[in-house]
Amino acid sequence: MYKPKILIIEDDPAISNLIKTTLETQNYQYHTAKTGSEAIIDAVSYNPDAIILDLGLPDMDGVTIINKVRSWTNTPIIVVSARTEDQDKVDALDAGADDYITKPFSIDEFLARLRVALRRKNSEGEKSDINNGIYVNGGLKIDYASGCVYVDGNEVHLTPIEYKLICLLAKNTGKVLTHNYILKEVWGSVIAADTPSLRVFMATLRKKIEKDPSNPQYIQTHISVGYRMLKV
Ligand code: CA
Repeated sequence: MYKPKILIIEDDPAISNLIKTTLETQNYQYHTAKTGSEAIIDAVSYNPDAIILDLGLPDMDGVTIINKVRSWTNTPIIVVSARTEDQDKVDALDAGADDYITKPFSIDEFLARLRVALRRKNSEGEKSDINNGIYVNGGLKIDYASGCVYVDGNEVHLTPIEYKLICLLAKNTGKVLTHNYILKEVWGSVIAADTPSLRVFMATLRKKIEKDPSNPQYIQTHISVGYRMLKV
């Protein structure tokens, strides 16, 4: 059985050891880097299936590392931050990270996030479905050619903005998209609309596609950060 390769970029030995021990018991392979410059070399030579990146490294800013890694690979990046400031997470996500986890974190939470990231990587091959013009995620179906959206076989009628929103989230299934990213992609600028209006559009979209909008199955909210389409 193939053991996914995880690159751990972390300068704190206690956290690095905790992650290593966890990965060992779960049948992952891993490689560790303690600095940013080491990490960038390893990201090429080790060719990991996922990267766990501490934002507070001695030699380099986490966003710089993400930018460099993203210039050649789409490998999922999960950011680990001791900082609780939302802006750090948002900057990391805008630079192309997939997800974030805040220290201290539980092992179960860590492993769950890692599984989501790896699933996204593995489903990249399923992009052929999108080329066929159909997106399927559980009971949710988007037919791009006709612009129709179905939930459990029933067509739902979306406004043009809602349709753009769902297509953007679907295209990035598994990835946390920041408010600014969504505003830029859907409205063309961050100024044309704002986060409160995005929230309103998201609420009406949810009412149409979620069985229980207060307990959403498809679109997950990341408070002060953004939204993510979950793989059902
Ligand atoms: Ca650190």
